[in-house]
Amino acid sequence: ISDINAQSITTPAINKHYPLCASHLQKNLILSSHLKYQGRQQLGLFLKGIGLNVDEALKFWSYQFTKSSNAINLEKFNKEYKYNIRHNYGLEGARINYKPWDCARILLKPKPGKGEYHGCPYRDLSVDALVNNLNEMGINDQQDINGVVDDVSRNDYTVACTRVFEITHKNQLGKNNKATEGMHINHPNLYFDRSRQLDR
Ligand code: SF4
Repeated sequence: ISDINAQSITTPAINKHYPLCASHLQKNLILSSHLKYQGRQQLGLFLKGIGLNVDEALKFWSYQFTKSSNAINLEKFNKEYKYNIRHNYGLEGARINYKPWDCARILLKPKPGKGEYHGCPYRDLSVDALVNNLNEMGINDQQDINGVVDDVSRNDYTVACTRVFEITHKNQLGKNNKATEGMHINHPNLYFDRSRQLDR
């Protein structure tokens, strides 16, 4: 049975495998009990990709959207948001089984506006905000931080993300060099899957 469900996806045991784009979206969903359309699509399809089934997805999103008392109630959620989640799972409309977005697709989308959290944080956050996020991921070494910031200044966002993966998985990668071969992160779900694999 899958250990990915509406509860587990907010625990550190699962969240530690998220790339920054996914944790940035989920963190802000939890904080504001809402995400705008592009963010719902990006995070929703990422979660589908890690193995969250449609029933668990509906549990997760409805709880997040209705949890703050004066926001949205379940009736409104079911009316306005449920269809879209089922649609992403191929259960409505043209019944297409939509795939999670890769980094190239994410980087092609319009940049997030005010109150939006989709996109790639390596591109879209200010340097200060990015460094805060890196610190929160346990990256405190100045050389490591400079490396990431340099990648970002060259617009090499996936290189920055790959560097962060390598820094945050240094111990596991050291033990298993094979896992480093040809590794370049070009998909948020690849980041997640590789990270979990290294944990096993
Ligand atoms: Fe997400 Fe890709 Fe950006 Fe990494 S490089 S944060 S996986 S969009």
